[in-house]
Amino acid sequence: MCGIFGYIGQDSAPSIIHKGLKRLEYRGYDSWGISIIDKDKIRTIKDVGHLPEEIAQKKLFSTIGIGHTRWATHGGITVTNAHPHFSKDRSFVIAQNGIVENYLELKEELESKEYEFETNVDTEVIVKLVEEGIKKGINLRNSLISAFKQLEGRNTVIVLDLKDKRILAIRNGSPLILGIKKDEIFLASDPLAFNQFTTEIVEVNNGELIEIEKGKFKIFDIDNNKYIDRESKIEKLLDIDIDKGKYAHYMLKEIVQQQHTILKATEYTEKELKPLIKQLNNAENIYTIGAGTAGFSADQIAYYLRKISKKSAISIKSYETESYLDLITSKDVVIVLSQSGETADTLEAIELFKEKGAYIASVINMPGSTLSRISDIFFMSKAGSEICVASTKVFTSQISFGYLISKTLIGEFNEAKKELSSLSSNLESYFTKERFKDIENIANKLVNKEHFFILGKGQNFHIAQEGALKIKEISYKHFEGFAAGELKHGVIALIEKGSPVISIISNDMNRKDMISATYEVKARGALTIGIGDMDFENEKCFDYFIDVAKTEELKAISNVIPFQLISYFLAKALGNNIDKPRNLAKSVTVK
Ligand code: GLU
Repeated sequence: MCGIFGYIGQDSAPSIIHKGLKRLEYRGYDSWGISIIDKDKIRTIKDVGHLPEEIAQKKLFSTIGIGHTRWATHGGITVTNAHPHFSKDRSFVIAQNGIVENYLELKEELESKEYEFETNVDTEVIVKLVEEGIKKGINLRNSLISAFKQLEGRNTVIVLDLKDKRILAIRNGSPLILGIKKDEIFLASDPLAFNQFTTEIVEVNNGELIEIEKGKFKIFDIDNNKYIDRESKIEKLLDIDIDKGKYAHYMLKEIVQQQHTILKATEYTEKELKPLIKQLNNAENIYTIGAGTAGFSADQIAYYLRKISKKSAISIKSYETESYLDLITSKDVVIVLSQSGETADTLEAIELFKEKGAYIASVINMPGSTLSRISDIFFMSKAGSEICVASTKVFTSQISFGYLISKTLIGEFNEAKKELSSLSSNLESYFTKERFKDIENIANKLVNKEHFFILGKGQNFHIAQEGALKIKEISYKHFEGFAAGELKHGVIALIEKGSPVISIISNDMNRKDMISATYEVKARGALTIGIGDMDFENEKCFDYFIDVAKTEELKAISNVIPFQLISYFLAKALGNNIDKPRNLAKSVTVK
């Protein structure tokens, strides 16, 4: 959600910023803007929609500038509202990531002091607050700090200053990270934006002001009023390829990569897991937490902890923690799932849980993220960059890790590793052209349907929910995932002739219930599709059947894959933007 990029060096700033913003596109945005210092002027180009492949300003030579991809929260998607925003005297521009929650109050106050507003964007309030400080004779840097301190909400603000030819940025909540390369400094919302230039990073914490001038940076702690030293570090995980390779879309590439990523996510040794295992063994309560797809990972991991490890684990959604807060104590362990490590709802919940003294263990895919810094322990999913907005490989990485932990708790670390590696090789033979064609044919039959139902039970209940979410995200079709047990309690009222119902069926204790549920919907005219173990291929209750990669205990993973593929092929048939679905952002950094 929203991208910020800054560059000071010797190279062409417009071209580097353009490249950086392109790398941030996956986060989701609706308009963009780039400002550079061209001799004695700040020049800005902005537009709505997606960044073009080339930018006209390439002819200009500048070595300093900032860029922004906006995900509008306040004010329509227009060129005027796109960031960066100029000060009245055009001596600086500001871009913001986040929401100024008290912007109406601040705006009214400024209006009463005769400040005139041209937009409804909350960012303009920041510009005017800085101008107000400067008018009082305070320098730009200190005016920015005092303006920033008046803002409520999670925000990061970046400023391009014409007079001193420098970039200033302050962070509170929304992500920000520095990239270093000899005399060049990059500043971005995530390190993928500059990983083609450098893998050397410096983390930026909340409440810190970054000043970048002539290839040097300084970090200033705005609460304690002092400069702080911070060493840079080489982030090996950034050395990754982010091209589509031979695939038409990132989504397909990322689906196929799962044969390897489930192993990458679990390549930890038993010794490395030990501190977490110890905490889990001593915990009074175990909570798992996440939002969206990571929320379903949290559900599935809690399921494994209960079913495999016999621990009483509770899964909670990051945005619904209110009733749990008073229960959390220092004896509890919270397992946090977040691809980006910057998910606003999740961070907010974790900050509160930390105050209660709970032990925080996170599973993250993005290096250098906030969550990694506030956790007591963190594990990288090592899935590589996931560019498609809809998560596929990170979901299965997270649940693979949860499975490994659950098995390790009962002394079956080696067995878990074996199971993961057997699924990995079965997935390798699963991803064939023929299978893709079969699933595409089924997806093509669904193009004209509008309401879909997915039924699951036990180990497949959360997969029904995640499967529905995956297809909704990319196809914009109305899919609902239910516990099969819920059918008779209401859902069946919706089934009519031709209603597509997908049942997830595994050779487990729930198979009979799943078959009965499917017969019940079929009796009411539903078009039935089975997804699951080969054993059920010839069951009469299914009109179509998609078999899955063989596994004993990781059926949640093998069963979710056909949903990812249906989602992909359905969206392809509908002509949707597969990697960047409408209205969605990859990294949900605002609430
Ligand atoms: N709240 C600001 C706006 O609506 C910034 C949103 C963003 O983070 O992109 O423009």
